[in-house]
Amino acid sequence: MAKISINIKEGKIADQSDLIIGIDLGTTNSLVAYIKDEQAIAVKGKNKSALVPSIVHFDANGNIIVGDEAKEKLISDPQNTIYSVKRLMGKSYKDVQNVEQYFGYQIIDEDTESLVKIRVADRFFTPIELSAEILKELKNRIEKELKKEVSKAVITVPAYFNDAQRQATRDAGKLAGLDVLRIVNEPTAASLAYGIDKLSEEAQTIAVYDLGGGTFDISILQLQDGIFEVLATNGDTFLGGDDFDRVIVDYWVQENNIDPKKLVEDKSFSQAIRLAAERAKVSLSSKNTFEENIRGVKHSINKSTFNSLIQPLIQQTIQSCQAAMKDANLTNSDIDHVVMVGGSTRVPLVKDSISDFFGKTVNDSLNPDEVVALGAAIQADVLAGNQKNILLLDVTPLSLGIETVGGLMDTIIPRNSKVPTKAGRQYTTSVDGQKNLKVAVYQGERDLIEHNRKLGEFILRGIPPMPAGLPKIEIQFILNADGILKVKAKELRSDVETEIEIRSQYGLSEEEMGKMLLESIQHAQSDMATRALLEARNEANNILLSSSKFLTQNEAILSQEEIHKTIQLVKALEDTVSGTDKDAINKAMEDLNEYTTPLAHRAMDVNIGKAMQGKKV
Ligand code: AMP
Repeated sequence: MAKISINIKEGKIADQSDLIIGIDLGTTNSLVAYIKDEQAIAVKGKNKSALVPSIVHFDANGNIIVGDEAKEKLISDPQNTIYSVKRLMGKSYKDVQNVEQYFGYQIIDEDTESLVKIRVADRFFTPIELSAEILKELKNRIEKELKKEVSKAVITVPAYFNDAQRQATRDAGKLAGLDVLRIVNEPTAASLAYGIDKLSEEAQTIAVYDLGGGTFDISILQLQDGIFEVLATNGDTFLGGDDFDRVIVDYWVQENNIDPKKLVEDKSFSQAIRLAAERAKVSLSSKNTFEENIRGVKHSINKSTFNSLIQPLIQQTIQSCQAAMKDANLTNSDIDHVVMVGGSTRVPLVKDSISDFFGKTVNDSLNPDEVVALGAAIQADVLAGNQKNILLLDVTPLSLGIETVGGLMDTIIPRNSKVPTKAGRQYTTSVDGQKNLKVAVYQGERDLIEHNRKLGEFILRGIPPMPAGLPKIEIQFILNADGILKVKAKELRSDVETEIEIRSQYGLSEEEMGKMLLESIQHAQSDMATRALLEARNEANNILLSSSKFLTQNEAILSQEEIHKTIQLVKALEDTVSGTDKDAINKAMEDLNEYTTPLAHRAMDVNIGKAMQGKKV
């Protein structure tokens, strides 16, 4: 098993002193940090803050701006300004449809099962591409500071992120020209920043309370022999400092007899009052009263009023803490350390309430906005081999995955995963009545299997005939400590099962592995474009198939004009599918979808009506 580190520029095995950066890719803000003279430091920008707002703006000419400048466009150009993209990472439209109204930009919904896309004018972006823009900005920032190129990173994600979300984060890194050596849980990074792993030889239990601008997470970790394990997580993805601001605005609306309609209709007033509320909140973290004039009217609030307004919100976070403790099977006295993360933990009542709840003084000496990035930099330093006495675990040197439709590589065990490990994913068939499924196993980092190394293949036979998309086929990869990979395929409706064992996956020299990694980063941009095109084509072919079924089945219900228009849109989509412009395919899919959705609803109503005829309800 290898512990390798590659110099991307030269395609060589890296020397030990190569710098690896730590990145906190956040929902609201992102940061980059590194180790200098054994100290973790977050890199600051012109405004002396290390925070880069996780916001991407596209101007009329298609230029991309990230960070503070993009944030200014949130009000003036919301359609072309993308925020909170982290909430969409690795998610399908089905996953986000309940919260869609929260986003000021357009999320595309033509296929509820596939990953979401975001429409900006006539271009379509994946959350991976947008996150890559944020990562590029961070990469630029640190390269400017250090006056040298960096190419390797550790990126943090929430402890509750699933495989798809973690893989999406890795892919974003690759697209930004970064070799992502490790994805680290945010609470683990925060614990590393406080050096909790160095305090004692004995097992430690840690509660990490993370209250940011828009999200809240509580994670309970166990640290033993240098390894962090997540025992439980809980939280609320729509609770944070923004809600503290909102309750202050509501208070002023009442106190100053402001017509609530004014907040909706007068955008500049609502923005002004919201920003004043945030200033009030920040100021009340250190003072007892706040007062400011907005358009000649005095707006004031004192600390005890503020505390009573936010009390119910803090209580919600405590309920989450209770739930997490219950899931972890622990009582509050089992907790050895409490770590505070996120700007909103600066509010004294938050700190006091959490300290009371766990019956412990909280760790709050580090900047709560920076603590995750600082921990990521420390983890990076460990990986670079700069920290003595820390054991590096054996990891998989290259990603392992299978071939999916169109010759794409679907990674199941990402590179640098600790071994032994086990991971699986569900697939289905693409043809009606399909009885056999070929499972081809590959190793490598490229998006197309033709560029990766084939390890073996087998056929799952005897799937009972079903319509395409109905069988549930679970593919499991089990990698043991000796590097032997077992791949199992099982159709879950019928229990049909096959497996193979692959022993030769490490038959590559370190140079060969280095070359494969180097190529994957060099080709990340074109690989991603090819993947996007192939995925758009696959989706379009599915839609073409269902549209033609729909037309034949519902001819009687549709008017001539509707049939004609649908055929026209189908033709337009067929034309784009044979081309190479993924945005054109996406646009044609959306046009067809938009036109046929109401027709499909009508057809459904008529068909249900028919089925009910003669039946008593
Ligand atoms: P984060 O997402 O971790 O960057 O947290 C940002 C949130 O922290 C925003 O809601 C800020 O208004 C809030 N925040 C930053 N500084 C303070 C402070 N001194 N007191 C209270 N809230 C703060």
